Parts: sequence; structure tokens; C-alpha cells
Amino acid sequence: MIGIVLLGPPGVGKGTQAARLKEALALAHLSTGDVLRQAVRDGSPLGARVKAVMESGSLVPDALVGEVVESALSVLARSSGTPAGTGAAPSGFLLDGFPRTVGQVAILDEVLARTGLTLDHVVLLDAPRDVVLRRLTGRRVCGSCGALYHVDSKKPGKAGTCDACGNPIVQRPDDSEESVARRLTVYQDETAPLAAEYGRRGILRTVDGSGDPEAVFARLLSAVGGALV
Ligand code: AMP
Repeated sequence: MIGIVLLGPPGVGKGTQAARLKEALALAHLSTGDVLRQAVRDGSPLGARVKAVMESGSLVPDALVGEVVESALSVLARSSGTPAGTGAAPSGFLLDGFPRTVGQVAILDEVLARTGLTLDHVVLLDAPRDVVLRRLTGRRVCGSCGALYHVDSKKPGKAGTCDACGNPIVQRPDDSEESVARRLTVYQDETAPLAAEYGRRGILRTVDGSGDPEAVFARLLSAVGGALV
């Protein structure tokens, strides 16, 4: 089982690249941001706890996201005994948006030790600040199914309407200029230092996240060993 963490500033394209990598390598993909947004949409107790924090662009408490990750990786570890060739078990995991703090690195270490899973690559997807700013403030999303759009590069067929499900396209509350500034500051202060830690462990791969998504994906694939399954 291969284990991959995708690190990088908000807006660098982690979600887009994670979806491709998941397909290419048959991975179980966990985006903590997606799980928390879904909880907010569902109005679950978790969603009610994190809604205001998320909209402000701050991080939710380590213990809460830790529980989300622990439960997903435990399920995966149990499924890894599925007989080969049945197509039922993923070939590894891809964490996108976790860990994001030094405390979450420790939580992940504990979960991996408990489940027997290993982390092979931490990919830092990086791009200049002006590139991520434009990607974030121009990003739009379907409020219903979560499909992604962009005012410059990925417009829907009919303005304001999701191509996939026909529901309205909106701006994420945390993509407002104020929240974006906060998220970039939080990234610099809390998350950027993780690269040094994983560098010391010898598993950090840095990938240029600017430019065409196809080219970024080719670089990403070669950083994690490149073999398609
Ligand atoms: P993302 O889609 O990864 O940018 O996440 C959106 C928001 O969800 C973040 O700004 C945080 O409020 C919250 N979030 C997602 N992942 C984490 C995490 N690992 N730790 C703390 N908060 C998180």
C-alpha cells in the first residue's frame, strides 16, 4: 500500500490534482476540507461546530480533523486484507489538506503506527502567491454537488448554472478576499513549516504547481514514482 500526502497553499490545485492521482493510482482519497464542507451542508453536529471557523478562513481544532482521518484510515487498513484481483481494495491512500499543523503531523504518526499503514511521499505542490490568489478569488463551486468552476479558465455552459446538476454556482464563503488573505497567512504560519519536517524524514517531493494542469500532473506522477496501475 502506498501512502501519499499532498501539501501546498490553498488554491494551488490540490483538489484537481488529487482527483487525477486518485484515478491514476487507484487510491483512496481523503480531503478533510471536502468532508468538513459536506458536514456543513448536511447540518450534522460536526458541521455545526466547524461552520463559522471554516468561513473565517481559520483552521478547525486538530482533534476534530484527527478523528475524521483516523476513522477513514482505519476503514482503509481493514479493507487492505481484501483478496487481490477483486478490485475492491484501493492500492493506497492520498491525504489532501491534512496534516496542516505540527500537532496534526503527530496525530498522523500515531494513526499510521496504530493501523500499520505507511507514508511514502509528501508532495509539496507550490506556486507563487499571485497565482494562488487569482485561482482562489476566481474559483466558483456548485453549491449542491461541489463541481468546480473558475471565472477565467472553467466557465459553465450556462452562466451561474452547474453543468453537472443544473443547480446554482456560488463562491465559497472562504474564497472571499478577506478569508483568502487569512488562509494564506494561516498556511505560512502553521502549514509551511511541515515541509521542513518531512524533508528531514527524506520523504518530501517538491512539485511546481503553476501552469497547465496536465503538465502539473505529469510532474506530480513522476514525483511519486510514476507507475500507472
Ligand atoms: P480546504 O478545502 O482544504 O482548503 O479546507 C477548507 C477549510 O476546512 C480550511 O480553511 C479549514 O477551516 C478546514 N480544514 C480542512 N482541513 C483542515 C485541517 N487538516 N485542519 C484544520 N482545518 C481544516
